[in-house]
Amino acid sequence: MSTFTARETDKIKKEINHAVNLNRTATSPYRVSVLGATGSIGTSTLDLIGRDPTSFEVVALTANTNVEALAQLAKRHKAQHAVIADNSKYQDLKNALSGTSTKVSSGAKAVIDAACIPAHCVIAAIVGAAGLKSAFASLSQGNRLGLANKECLVCAGDVFIKQAKSKGTQILPVDSEHSAAFQALSGAHPETIEKITLTASGGPFRNWSQEKISKATLSQALNHPNWSMGPKVTIDSASMMNKGLELIEAYHLFPVTADQLDTVIHPQSIIHCLVSYTDGSVLAQLSDPDMRTPIALALSWPSRMKTPTKRLDLASIGELTFERPDETRFPALTIAREVLRNGGSAPNVMNAANEVAVCAFIDGQIGFCQISSTVQTVLDIAHAKGLLRNSSTLEDVLEIDTQARAIAKTYIRSLC
Ligand code: NAD
Ligand code: MG
Repeated sequence: MSTFTARETDKIKKEINHAVNLNRTATSPYRVSVLGATGSIGTSTLDLIGRDPTSFEVVALTANTNVEALAQLAKRHKAQHAVIADNSKYQDLKNALSGTSTKVSSGAKAVIDAACIPAHCVIAAIVGAAGLKSAFASLSQGNRLGLANKECLVCAGDVFIKQAKSKGTQILPVDSEHSAAFQALSGAHPETIEKITLTASGGPFRNWSQEKISKATLSQALNHPNWSMGPKVTIDSASMMNKGLELIEAYHLFPVTADQLDTVIHPQSIIHCLVSYTDGSVLAQLSDPDMRTPIALALSWPSRMKTPTKRLDLASIGELTFERPDETRFPALTIAREVLRNGGSAPNVMNAANEVAVCAFIDGQIGFCQISSTVQTVLDIAHAKGLLRNSSTLEDVLEIDTQARAIAKTYIRSLC
């Protein structure tokens, strides 16, 4: 749980003033780096930046393997650095950016180095635990993180929050529910918060029977009703593991206990989070389901920037509806809740097992329902092996992640 002392609040206020000044100084563009620039969050971030190019300076863009997309983005935004994680693509990227002033590099260490270049905001949008090292390195240099990569807080929440506090910098949530909570919690005293409720669309299988879900295909799992996202988070939304990961993310970001976190199904995805206070008031944030709204907040907070997103017309939407999640058909939510209560490395192990299981589902090795059952089995094995102990360093977190992945892969092989 993270609460702020008076000294920390003071530091944050100073930082806010600093950010306000930056946003208002036309001669000093806001320096932004995007880790995972070619993905869904990365391209949405750069879409916003491209609409207001004089206000931003693009410091570094990184991608895993997609040279063409990275080169195009680097050219369009005149990026100072472009980094491809896959070393074998270095020459391709070099060729694609010849004649430009963009510095080119490759490899996992180069991604970390790029993350460490001073910037006003670094959008951490690499998918999965692969994004931990670069986001942590960036934070450790004192860069403000616009955190899309929820796995950072799921796997290493205590380590990240401690580092942010010790460096006097901030983690601004990009995940829509957490961005909504961040806004609805503005100025709140922790003791006045009763509950934080994250909304969930329910995903493509919301009304499906257990029997039908067990036969779900990859294309059905990728067919999200409201949001356009990368494949991993889309499949997590279909299993509702995404909401489980988000409960853990919220626990680290906000001053609440696990029991003060709740979820509700809201199929229209208009309300993103609700904060209930001790006087009976409930504050919520509403917007069209478009990630450019929470990304814009991370890029401009404590100010706000214009976005081209669809404006809400509540009368034409007509109805906002709510349901309780069905944890029998979506056991990932129960698993995540239990993991959150257990703490230690259980969330890290759960995430690793889930990443491996989602890959196996994409590769056609296991069925949709075997994603959750694999996660539960790996947690049981990890518990028996004493792997769920606390981790106090990022190295320890990564070591447990590696061991959990090995257990998950062995288990999945035994199923095939
Ligand atoms: P994506 O799959 O569309 O993009 C992932 C990006 O990470 C790509 O640029 C890819 O090149 C890069 N990448 C992947 N593996 C890498 C590696 N090993 N090393 C370096 N770079 C690597 O994913 P996304 O949907 O944009 O999601 C990114 C993160 O944001 C995830 O953690 C996701 O949970 C979170 N998030 C996404 C959304 C959304 O709407 N897409 C919403 C909320 C949170
Ligand atoms: Mg979300």
